[in-house]
Order: sequence, then C-alpha cells, then structure tokens
Amino acid sequence: MGRGRLFILSGPAGAGKGTLRQTLFRAMPDLAFSVSCTTRGMRPGEVGGRDYYFVSRDEFESMVKRDEFLEWAEVHGNYYGTRRADVARVIDSGRDMLLEIDVQGSRHVKSRIADAVRIFITAPSLDELEERLEDRGTESRAQLDVRLSNAAKEMALAREYDHIIVNDDAARASEELIGLVRHYRGQTETKTEMIRTEVVKS
Ligand code: 5GP
Repeated sequence: MGRGRLFILSGPAGAGKGTLRQTLFRAMPDLAFSVSCTTRGMRPGEVGGRDYYFVSRDEFESMVKRDEFLEWAEVHGNYYGTRRADVARVIDSGRDMLLEIDVQGSRHVKSRIADAVRIFITAPSLDELEERLEDRGTESRAQLDVRLSNAAKEMALAREYDHIIVNDDAARASEELIGLVRHYRGQTETKTEMIRTEVVKS
C-alpha cells in the first residue's frame, strides 16, 4: 500500500472554503481531515477536536518548542498549526488527507511534501468577499478589516497554487473541487495498478 496524498485547500476568509469542504467530505467520506490547533476563540457551532483543537497561546508555544508542528503560522493575529504526528499517521496508513491552511502554511508543507496538491478557493472579487463576510456576521468590524486586508495579499499569491477555483456559484464550485480531487485520487490508483502489473510481468 502506498502513502496517502495530501490536498491543501487555501483561500481568503469569505471565499466559501468551509461549505466547499463539507460537500467534498460528503462526496468522499474516506478522505481524512487534518484538525489544526489554534489559539483563536471558538465560534458558535464549532466543536473542539472536530473543527480545531482550541489551545492557549502558552500551550501552542510549548508545542512549537517541542517541534510538534509540520507547519504553523500566525494568521489574523492568532496561531494556527498542523501537527506533524497527525498527518504522518494518516498518510502512512495510505489514506488521503485534506489540510485547510493559509498560504504561508501551504508553502511550508509543499516544501516538505512535494506531491501535495494545492487548491486555492477564491471569490469573484474583493467586494464580494466583503459582502459575504459581513453577512456571515461571525467577526467584529476590527476582525473583519484584518481579514479583508489579508484577503488581498492572499489573493495575490493564488498563482502559486496548482489549481484555482472561483467560487461564483457554490454548486458549480463544489463540483469542480470534487472533480479535481477525484482526478488526483484516480491517478494514484492508476499508478499503483501499473506498479502491480509490472511486478506481475517481471
Ligand atoms: P479561521 O479562523 O477562519 O477558521 O481560519 C483562519 C485562517 O487560518 C484560514 O485561512 C485557515 O485556512 C487558516 N488555518 C487554519 N488552520 C491552519 C493551520 O493549521 N495552519 C495554517 N498555516 N493556517 C491554518
């Protein structure tokens, strides 16, 4: 059995990553989700251990010192990190895994795991992003401004990604995401199949 493949999903706040991710997992329940650690407060409806591991800044900094993170970054004033052991356990068991992390984290992971597939989700425009974030209503005005100014920077880095999905219509964008992931997962199977055939032949 081969190693699982990593899929990285990034994109600015308000681009609709959360919704697209949910439809992806409904279509592919065998895909694993990497639960990150964060120091930000829990939002209504979030569950510790499912959406994030919510930890204090002290705990997070100790984890950094112990080198527990595959990558970590400060995003919108809070720390976020992916635990090395969690990713290793999943991909070593042959399962594919999705990481929803920011552009800095995505760079780090790609430099360590070269075959990770990076997908960027974006809204059609910054105005549209602002509208969606305001409608979501989960952030204060100050938090919203931080997220919007970061959105412009993140969108400028989209071209580093293997694929960009413009989320102008949720149903269409979900289909595109599912199709992409399916394509890469299918490729892995083909490769495994080819290796098996070669072994049989020799
Ligand atoms: P939110 O607070 O809206 O859940 O996430 C804020 C940002 O942090 C998003 O861009 C999200 O992708 C990113 N993020 C979540 N977990 C991680 C992580 O483990 N590492 C990094 N680098 N970014 C993360």
